[in-house]
Amino acid sequence: MSETIFSKIIDRDIPADIVFEDDLCLAFRDVNPQAPTHILIIPKKPIAKLGEADDDDQALLGHLLLKTREIANDLGLGDAYRVVINNGENAGQTVFHLHLHLLAGRPFSWPPG
Ligand code: 5GP
Repeated sequence: MSETIFSKIIDRDIPADIVFEDDLCLAFRDVNPQAPTHILIIPKKPIAKLGEADDDDQALLGHLLLKTREIANDLGLGDAYRVVINNGENAGQTVFHLHLHLLAGRPFSWPPG
């Protein structure tokens, strides 16, 4: 996978407001927040998008979801948050390094736009 803005954040080549890090993942505030709280959770492993994850990534994908839950709890988001993965350009993905959006702090409509 080619270098992305997120791999540069992992490598500390560009700054980010990091809220959590462990061996497998990094979480930081979105530079262009779509809600009062908008965190991006990314694997350190360079997976371009969910559609390119494979069966060997099962534990990693579970880890990302459970860490998202933990971050939501730590930030006091209660049970009012949304988790989004945009997969592919036509679904709105702009950075091709897998990431989960954790959004909270405003009402959310359904279906999403
Ligand atoms: P996508 O559209 O791929 O699902 O989401 C990419 C997200 O990355 C967008 O919400 C965008 O605001 C965010 N983003 C893009 N570049 C940067 C950056 O340099 N720093 C941070 N913190 N977020 C970024």
